[in-house]
Amino acid sequence: MELTELTIAQAHEKLAKREISSLELTKAFLDRIENFDKKFFSFLAVTSNLALSQARKIDDLILTGRKPSILAGIPIAVKDNILVEEMRCTAGSKILENYVAPYDATVIERLKAQDAVILGKTNLDEFAMGSSTENSGFFPTKNPQDLTRVPGGSSGGSAAAVAGDLCCYALGSDTGGSIRQPASFCGVVGLKPTYGAVSRSGLISMASSLDQIGPITKTVEDAKIVFEAIKGKDPLDSTSVELPKPQTTNHKLQTIKMGVPKEYFIEGMDTEVEEIIRNSIKKFEEQGVKIEEISLPHTKYALSCYYIIMPSEVSANLARYDGIKYGYSISKEQRSKGKELLDVYLRSREEGFGEEVRIRIMLGTYALSAGYYEAYYLRAQKVRTLIKEDFEKAFQKVDLILTPVSPTPAFKIGEKIEDPLKMYLSDIFTIAVNLAGLPAISIPVGRVNNLPVGLQIIGRPFEENKILEAGQILEKAIS
Ligand code: GLN
Repeated sequence: MELTELTIAQAHEKLAKREISSLELTKAFLDRIENFDKKFFSFLAVTSNLALSQARKIDDLILTGRKPSILAGIPIAVKDNILVEEMRCTAGSKILENYVAPYDATVIERLKAQDAVILGKTNLDEFAMGSSTENSGFFPTKNPQDLTRVPGGSSGGSAAAVAGDLCCYALGSDTGGSIRQPASFCGVVGLKPTYGAVSRSGLISMASSLDQIGPITKTVEDAKIVFEAIKGKDPLDSTSVELPKPQTTNHKLQTIKMGVPKEYFIEGMDTEVEEIIRNSIKKFEEQGVKIEEISLPHTKYALSCYYIIMPSEVSANLARYDGIKYGYSISKEQRSKGKELLDVYLRSREEGFGEEVRIRIMLGTYALSAGYYEAYYLRAQKVRTLIKEDFEKAFQKVDLILTPVSPTPAFKIGEKIEDPLKMYLSDIFTIAVNLAGLPAISIPVGRVNNLPVGLQIIGRPFEENKILEAGQILEKAIS
């Protein structure tokens, strides 16, 4: 087995036993990035020197006899909308092309405290808006499983880097599916934690009531390790909470009930994807899990509801990029031609933001404007409550909910980029989870024409543990 194929758990064991050094491991990843990222385009920046010096430092510590923490010396890639002190953080946008982060995001602080080795920053759709990483302001990322296909998005760079063995694990962010959908397309594991389980401090905001940071890994066990390291209350994010102690594991499978919502098997869905999902549900049944059909009747409104609430929050969050405070600004010459300050704002934003971002800012501004607020935003918030209540009712009957992650496997590069509505539809099964603030994981369960397919397991708020446990059982059953 190549060093770059190791899971976190395996790499940790070898590091602790001093069978390998962090320097060796880090070099192996850097070599592979050098050789393969020419094909995948998953990184926006590789910080080799920093990674190597970090690795040496950790090796020294281990040599002095210190027991390495579980993530010590193991290389990670970070989505480029998460701040790492003194590294550039672009959010995939030209408007932040030269922006250098002045501090660490809380998740990064926590990983650094565990001596993680940061390899660099990964590509994403601009400000995390997209489902294919084709909206990146720099270049599209390709799916390592098939280079003619998208890796999904918006955390496409992170998912491709994990799938292509260019890092041991990665961080992504998920506002409407951006961890789970790329994980599914690339054949890796992606966990979107409960809203509030992980601090958002230092995550460049897209839609604050939906955004969450989470791990993208090779196994469910690894997802658990990373989640444990980054979760918990942070004074810098007032929406973050301390998680209850993990419930004792080893639930008797026979006592677990899982629900399969009938609204998640829709017309137009790829029939082979459906077959794979149904088969993996059977695997649970074979283990003694009780499976029952449930209904989440407001599912059909989730996409429309999301595309009112998300752009509204986007329009407010992105107002800060005005060409003055930070980021791209029109040139001095152009500025002197402008008649007033407003020209600087308007032209800097017009030139700095890509098309999809401008569409969403306009949509959101419209939905929030006087006279329309009640008709759109307020109404969408009411629908959001109904969607949440659907899940609450379902969770009175079942412990976990099983659904597909996406109606199709990874699509071709260029296939949906001209048609935003088609692109939006690829998140139809992930979005309701964000609206309801729930935790969910994507686990690879099969392939269609050699393209990976992911199963989504959704849980009650703060019951990540149950999801992870079920995920591990499934992983074993299908391996
Ligand atoms: N694809 C969805 C969107 O374009 C979700 C993005 C995300 O989760 N960041 O908004």
